[in-house]
Amino acid sequence: MVDRNFIDSSFYIKYGLPVLLLALVTAFKIWLFNIIGYQIPFILYFGVVVVTSRYFGIRAASFIIILAALTSNYLFIPPYNGFNFDKIGLVQTLLFAFECGLIMGLSNALGRAITKVKEADRLFKALIEKSAEGIIMVNADGQVVYCSPAVESILGYSANQFLSFPPWSLVHPDDVLNIKEEFYRLALHAGKSITLQHRMMHNNGTWIWIESRTTNLLEEPAVNAIISNFSNVTDRVLLEKQREDFVGVASHELKTPITSLKAYTQVLRGRFKDSPDNTSYSIAKKIDQQVNRIITMITALLDVTTLQTGKLNLNKTEFDFNKQVTEIIESLQQTTAQHQFNVQLADIKTVVADRDRINQVVTNFISNAIKYSPSADEIIITSEVTNDWVTLYVTDKGIGIPPAESEKIFERFYRADTARNTFQGLGLGLYICAQIITLHNGKIGVNSEVGRGSTFWFSLPV
Ligand code: ADP
Repeated sequence: MVDRNFIDSSFYIKYGLPVLLLALVTAFKIWLFNIIGYQIPFILYFGVVVVTSRYFGIRAASFIIILAALTSNYLFIPPYNGFNFDKIGLVQTLLFAFECGLIMGLSNALGRAITKVKEADRLFKALIEKSAEGIIMVNADGQVVYCSPAVESILGYSANQFLSFPPWSLVHPDDVLNIKEEFYRLALHAGKSITLQHRMMHNNGTWIWIESRTTNLLEEPAVNAIISNFSNVTDRVLLEKQREDFVGVASHELKTPITSLKAYTQVLRGRFKDSPDNTSYSIAKKIDQQVNRIITMITALLDVTTLQTGKLNLNKTEFDFNKQVTEIIESLQQTTAQHQFNVQLADIKTVVADRDRINQVVTNFISNAIKYSPSADEIIITSEVTNDWVTLYVTDKGIGIPPAESEKIFERFYRADTARNTFQGLGLGLYICAQIITLHNGKIGVNSEVGRGSTFWFSLPV
């Protein structure tokens, strides 16, 4: 019953109001008959059609078009006060109805487009406002101009509070310089995105770790801002730090006993060397080799800890690069009878770098080349000098690296699929090499093909 009433009332409104409007317009036109009545018979009816199709729908608008065509034909086309269906009157009336049909179609399409835009707007608002990630919009000066409701659950400030803070005032003093630098660099590159991790002051007075993904949309006309999505990663960062601390402390504590062990095994090797007890000598030798492996691993873990705490200081001196590389090659040649080293070094005088650390990189490249080419018999070591850069290449004909992994192998603990199950290792050597070369403002990389071999290279400015 209630529904029926509603339908009825909506029916009367839908058709009644447009008819009323048409009547008012007709009365107005009769009143101004000499000005806009007979001279421009259809004027003002277009408006009635637009209003009707916009607010009362297509059916009501079609009805009004017919009504308006008949009314104007009857009242405003000669002979006035009578229908005119001769050729001219009919054509005029039909053209009016046709144009009204077009207007109705356009108005309807416009209405649908507006509805769609409103729906999309509501959807995006809901996505932004219900997202658990905080979303802020920042102008080119670093001033926050919008923040989503999640900012309050992450940082504890209401939107108004958050918007009132001066730029950067909530960022930890130790991080602020880096963050500002990254931000202003990003502001110069339209469309670019960066990921940052830093501390921010929570409303409860504690520092929390934030990870943000920030994109420069300053040149996007509809946005004209830098957008940052961020979340609270404090738990993850603290856990990582605990793990790093543990690795640091454990490897540091292991280093002393293992160094003593190394000394004792060497004494044992010395004792058994000239004795007739060959078995004991061979066992002592094997213990010594295993101890060496443990020492290599512990040293790598300690290096990683030093790198992560930013405490790796370079001790740069000027030294003869080729001499250094040749010494390493000679010593590593002793460790493999299977591989022949094919060496061709360019004429390089001296470089200024941390000699021990560069030794470490070269040693790592060549040791890996030996380790990861168990069926090959040659390793090629070459160098070249171009435009004030010296580059060393170490090429093996070993297992190679899948293209998708050739950048990842320089990350901490990353080991390629080709190596993971067959070769022993921690996945730290190349990470340390990359850090050492970066600290020297150099470049490092690899070209490789699975099953055919790899060429590892690094370049240093000379
Ligand atoms: P580790 O050798 O202890 O695993 P590295 O950091 O030296 O650690 O190397 C990381 C990974 O890179 C290796 O696990 C291996 O997958 C790949 N890799 C390094 N050198 C080579 C090479 N010469 N040939 C093929 N794969 C290599």
